[in-house]
Amino acid sequence: MSEFDLIRRHFTRPTPNTILSVGDDAALLQVNAGMELAVSTDMLVGGTHFYLDTDPRQLGHKTLAVNLSDMAAMGAQPRWATLSLSLPQAHDDWLKAFSEGFFALADEHGVELIGGDTTRGPLNLCVTIMGEVPQGKALRRTGAQVGDDIWVSGILGEAALGLAELQERVALPEGARQSCLAALQKPQPRVALGLALRGLAHSSIDISDGLLADLKHILDSSNMAAEVRYDRLPKSAYFESSDEGMDMLEQDCVLSGGEDYELCFTAPLAHREEIAALVDQLHLPLARIGKIVSGQGCKLRAANGSVIQLAREGYDHFA
Ligand code: ADP
Ligand code: MG
Repeated sequence: MSEFDLIRRHFTRPTPNTILSVGDDAALLQVNAGMELAVSTDMLVGGTHFYLDTDPRQLGHKTLAVNLSDMAAMGAQPRWATLSLSLPQAHDDWLKAFSEGFFALADEHGVELIGGDTTRGPLNLCVTIMGEVPQGKALRRTGAQVGDDIWVSGILGEAALGLAELQERVALPEGARQSCLAALQKPQPRVALGLALRGLAHSSIDISDGLLADLKHILDSSNMAAEVRYDRLPKSAYFESSDEGMDMLEQDCVLSGGEDYELCFTAPLAHREEIAALVDQLHLPLARIGKIVSGQGCKLRAANGSVIQLAREGYDHFA
């Protein structure tokens, strides 16, 4: 199969919202009046970000999902994507499954694939995503203010627990096993939440590297500090709900487990009820986990108010 057959067969679909799409030297896009273009790129490297034998359909989903998550964090409506592939060989079955996974999620979000690049080489998947956000309304990392509530969507640590299961570091009961593997392999980007948070949230980020690391980006960018209640963190039912017995695995998964692709955002008290109402509207849990204070770093507290010292070194710089 030639490169052009491959592109035509697997990566060329109708793109009614694009002036010029796959097939020319460049695509042509029309941004709606009053909108800014939000652009973001994420690359997945085989053997580094995923196992080389990962199911290609799931990989197609995830390649786009991690990029949609960045649009969600900005409060942008995703519209277009390019896909650059480096492939060791062109297996038709693999490409078919990969593109089906990719387009199934793209269709869910009204995203059009408008171009890319295809070369031979080690397996490497790179998407650039473009979305629209009304002028001045994007959710940035820099906007957190003293007194803001800190919120997170969904459940933390399930993807990390799913990875631990794949690596046979844990043996999860069947129910938890399924939801944790789904969290790892088929993350659901919180695009609808990001859109709903325009005008409500002061700052936002998607959690790709773990809650503490990503919240720290908001704190550093906003020049703020945080008080977070460990007992309020939404965690897998697999873990004990008490903050006693907080073992290494729980701490690892919930505080620094990567790949959750949930949103962490801050918002003023005045919007607390409107945000809480989104739980029913979006069928998505939202937990109020702490507040923004002045200063530096993040303090983690138990339900009784005592400060939790993190056992793991490497969190020290953050205490
Ligand atoms: P060029 O020689 O100008 O770089 P290519 O031969 O690389 O063009 O690509 C031909 C067309 O196919 C271009 O419009 C490009 O955007 C598109 N394309 C290439 N690879 C992909 C892909 N994996 N997915 C979608 N479109 C692609
Ligand atoms: Mg090219």
